[in-house]
Amino acid sequence: MSTHAEAFAPPAERADGRRNLVGLSREELGAEIAALGEKPFRAGQLWHWIYHRGITDFAAMTTLAKSFRANLATGHEVRRPAVGEAQRSRDGTAKWLLRFPDGQEVETVHIPEEDRGTLCVSSQVGCTLTCQFCHTGTQRLVRNLSAGEIVGQVMLARDYLGEWPAPAEGRQLTNVVLMGMGEPLYNYDNVAKALKIMMDPEGIAISKRKITLSTSGVVPEMRRCGAELGVNLAVSLHAVSDEVRDRIMPINKKYPLKELLDACRSYPGSNNARRITFEYVMLKGVNDSPSDARELTRLLKDIPAKVNLIPFNPWPGSFFECSEPAAITAFADILSAAAISAPVRATRGEDILAACGQLKSESRRKKKIERQAEAPASA
Ligand code: SAH
Ligand code: SF4
Repeated sequence: MSTHAEAFAPPAERADGRRNLVGLSREELGAEIAALGEKPFRAGQLWHWIYHRGITDFAAMTTLAKSFRANLATGHEVRRPAVGEAQRSRDGTAKWLLRFPDGQEVETVHIPEEDRGTLCVSSQVGCTLTCQFCHTGTQRLVRNLSAGEIVGQVMLARDYLGEWPAPAEGRQLTNVVLMGMGEPLYNYDNVAKALKIMMDPEGIAISKRKITLSTSGVVPEMRRCGAELGVNLAVSLHAVSDEVRDRIMPINKKYPLKELLDACRSYPGSNNARRITFEYVMLKGVNDSPSDARELTRLLKDIPAKVNLIPFNPWPGSFFECSEPAAITAFADILSAAAISAPVRATRGEDILAACGQLKSESRRKKKIERQAEAPASA
């Protein structure tokens, strides 16, 4: 484990005495029940109840022996994140503020559309990166989310939407995007574990084609993500020169444009049918000129790419302005003329501060000494 992962690790799951089964890999679940004296194949049945049927009460898991159910109930649980607040926007977008047992909070957003529904999932409490236009970036990283806390966001949304088991037709949760709070590739291990659980065909069963991971450009982990997970990739580009990108996205100093675009070029599984999405937030007078658009077409010319133009969403204290509608249209037209698909992302949930870049929890990083005082002796 890297020092970063250690420093920002989620608390041990046993903090309240019970072990949460959500977030264990199949192998770990098998080992857990073997320790209770059960046969390993029971893990498959338990997996089905937890991730296909969405059952949280062991007593209702009727294919398991009564003694096994009772045994599980003494030291284990199937936990959902607690909801601190649930809000619904005028446009149907829902936002949940989730509170974890250590008091930390993140937000999850559900965006319903006519033929699909997308869940925007958070991966960290806060973010270490400090992109100038992003509300989450003003909040210091508090900690990584555990795999259970990440997959728990999807399970909670399915609870609210009444989708256990998920219906074959007309689902309201079809897609998952890791575009909430945090940089998913700075919490790679927990994110990868959570995604493998989500993709498992005998459980939540959301295919890798319906999952998109968005990154600010953590080049080494982009390679791992492509090779090990194969989910769709979205890259927060937002500028076409190192000079501007260094200024608005400090991670560019570590992984500059050339390296980032090389990593995109070699992202496994990307082709014309499965393009990499480049997110581009439209900031007035910063990155929105016609020559920026022309430079963007040049940078992307040998990458299977589509561009998502995101109107800048303001937040309390933000110091950018959104580009004029005419500038956004002109920018999109230049990309389209170069045969690059460039839809303008519809802003959703603005009235409840649920739009891109607006998420921020009130969680605060505790002083080390406070954390040490709270930590269980065994942790
Ligand atoms: N950390 C990852 C995941 C967050 S995704 C990443 O940066 O890619 C959230 C997307 O919204 C990113 O493309 C981000 O750059 C963009 N964004 C951030 N602040 C925004 C704002 N105020 N208005 C519009 N988009 C914003
Ligand atoms: Fe972090 Fe992404 Fe916001 Fe940048 S845009 S501060 S990487 S969450």
